Amino acid sequence: MTITHCPLCGHETLESRSGDYRFETPPDFVGEAVVVGDTEWFECHQCGEHILPHPLSQAIERELSRRAAFAA
Ligand SMILES: [Zn+2]
Repeated sequence: MTITHCPLCGHETLESRSGDYRFETPPDFVGEAVVVGDTEWFECHQCGEHILPHPLSQAIERELSRRAAFAA
């Protein structure tokens, strides 16, 4: 998977990152940040946007909905 252009600002400033991705939950959300270990994503130097590959965003969504189910 190779991306170079940031979809937000259009600059060729995306850099691939790997390791543990930390997703800060919204302030109104119960629980701590979601951390997905040993994964890959992209960060834009220009605007600071994080671009998450589909499997990673899915993993975060699963975790958030799992917590939402607990909170309900
Ligand atoms: Zn950008």
